[in-house]
Amino acid sequence: MARNLDAKCRQCRREGEKLFLKGEKCFTDKCAIERRSYAPGQHGQKSGQRMSNFGQQLREKQKIRRVYGILERQFRKIYADANSRKGQTGENLLQLLESRLDNVAYRMGFGASRAEARQVVRHGAVLVNGRRVDIPSYVVRAGDVVQLTDRARTQLRVKGALEAAESRGFPEWLDVDAKAAKGVFKALPERADLPSTINESLVVELYSR
Ligand code: ZN
Repeated sequence: MARNLDAKCRQCRREGEKLFLKGEKCFTDKCAIERRSYAPGQHGQKSGQRMSNFGQQLREKQKIRRVYGILERQFRKIYADANSRKGQTGENLLQLLESRLDNVAYRMGFGASRAEARQVVRHGAVLVNGRRVDIPSYVVRAGDVVQLTDRARTQLRVKGALEAAESRGFPEWLDVDAKAAKGVFKALPERADLPSTINESLVVELYSR
C-alpha cells in the first residue's frame, strides 16, 4: 500500500494542527508544530496569502485523509457511500471513517496511533464479537464487541498504548475496559462528539463542485 512518507509531525505543520499520526509524540511538545507553527518548506512562512475556496476544500480533504490514514481512491469510495446514505453526507462520512476497525482499535487504545492500530489489526490481534478480523477497513457496527487477543494484550507496546489512552479518557461512544483490552462500540459518534477542527462540509463542497 502506498504511504505518505513525510515525517509525521511535518504533516502536522502542513495542516496547521496536530494530527496525532505519531501516537504519543503528537501529545507532547515534541510535535514539530510546537516549535514551528508555520507550514514546512521554503514558502511556509509566507503570510497574508488567502487560500482560494477550492484550495481550502482540497486542504481539508487531505487533512481528513491524513488523520484517518486513507488513500485517495478509498476515500472517494467512502464518500460515495456516505453520499448514498440517508442524513447529512458530511456527518455520514465522519461516521463511516470512525466505524473502520483500524480506527475503532485506535480509539480503544490498541495502538498509539491509527497506523499502529492498523498493524495490530493486520497481524490478526483483534477480535470482533469473538472472531478474528484482520481487515482494517472492516465496518464495526453499533453493539459490536472489539477486543485484543490474549497474546496481543500482554505485549508491552500495546500495554503502553492502552494505558496512555485510558489516562486521556475514552470517547463517549465507546465503552472500554482497558484492563481486559476490550470494548463495545455503543453507537456511531454524534457530530458534536467529534473534533470541531474537522470541517467536513468543505469536503462535501469539494465533491459537489
Ligand atoms: Zn504532531
